[in-house]
Amino acid sequence: MPLRRDFLRLLGLTAALPALPAAAASGIAPGSQPVVVSTWNFGETANAAAWQVLESRGSALDAVEAGARVPEADPDNHSVGLGGYPDRDGHVTLDACVMDHLGNLGSVACLEEIVHAVSVARRVMEKTPHVLLVGEGALQFALAEGFERQDLLTPEAAAAWRQWQETAEYRPQPNIERSNRYRMPGELPGGETNHDTIGILALDGAGHLAGACTTSGMAFKMRGRVGDSPISGAGLFVDGEVGAATATGVGEECLRICGSHTVVELMRHGRSPEQACREAVERIARRHPASRDDLQMAFVALRSDGALGGYSLQPGFNFAIRTASGSRLVEAPSLR
Ligand code: ASP
Repeated sequence: MPLRRDFLRLLGLTAALPALPAAAASGIAPGSQPVVVSTWNFGETANAAAWQVLESRGSALDAVEAGARVPEADPDNHSVGLGGYPDRDGHVTLDACVMDHLGNLGSVACLEEIVHAVSVARRVMEKTPHVLLVGEGALQFALAEGFERQDLLTPEAAAAWRQWQETAEYRPQPNIERSNRYRMPGELPGGETNHDTIGILALDGAGHLAGACTTSGMAFKMRGRVGDSPISGAGLFVDGEVGAATATGVGEECLRICGSHTVVELMRHGRSPEQACREAVERIARRHPASRDDLQMAFVALRSDGALGGYSLQPGFNFAIRTASGSRLVEAPSLR
């Protein structure tokens, strides 16, 4: 099975994973090697949902949407969808994006009161002549499409917001979700339920790539602030001929270098996925030397042949991989 061995070698998984099950058992056509990779520790949740789609021969686009919907519906995740921490005025506003291998793209930004921002983004892609709807217009479109209106501010997120107001001097702080003050009881910063944005990339049995990115953005941000996650080329970029990339961290830094597009272009010019992510991170660090100490920015990339990698500015970023041979959480190498 040279194809399988090569695939695993590209993933760097040859030593770490048990033998692949027979293709027939997984329901995946022989010769095709689907893979899902996502930011942070969404292996057992989002990746599992995405994998179910790929296993039943679904498309990469359906897979990433199914995956992204899982944390969106999870009230214990304070960085995505329901239960996300609000802006400084107390409104939960969501940003999301989907993109496929043909360059089809849909996004929403500053969307309120709809849990599944990623699915609204997909409808924008499929049902409108536009690629990005924001705020009230995005909400009206979602309601017209039959999405249900729901208060996304959970009592726990509201309590964290009130506590933040006491001392924050009205200044949004990146990745506040990961500080001691706002972690889940008994949990370490960066632990399982206080991870950040999900960016999820998939390669399906037909060899097609797709990606999705969804977030409630920076906690306690200014009203109207939009980060990198819904912006094509920043939080997500897919080029079916080359590969896909997604980002998490301080969106402003990613936007300044068109981060995910940069990663894909570096892969186009021959860099490995990890090296491409590394060069994008280095570019951010060069432009903003203080970022080495005071913010996190990370990328994950999936090449069209299934090779993948990730890289972050600060240690502590991980990404989750799902292939036919199992699921794995990888600690990304970092600049610091
Ligand atoms: N990139 C997201 C944003 O800036 C936040 C995150 O990844 O934590 O909105």
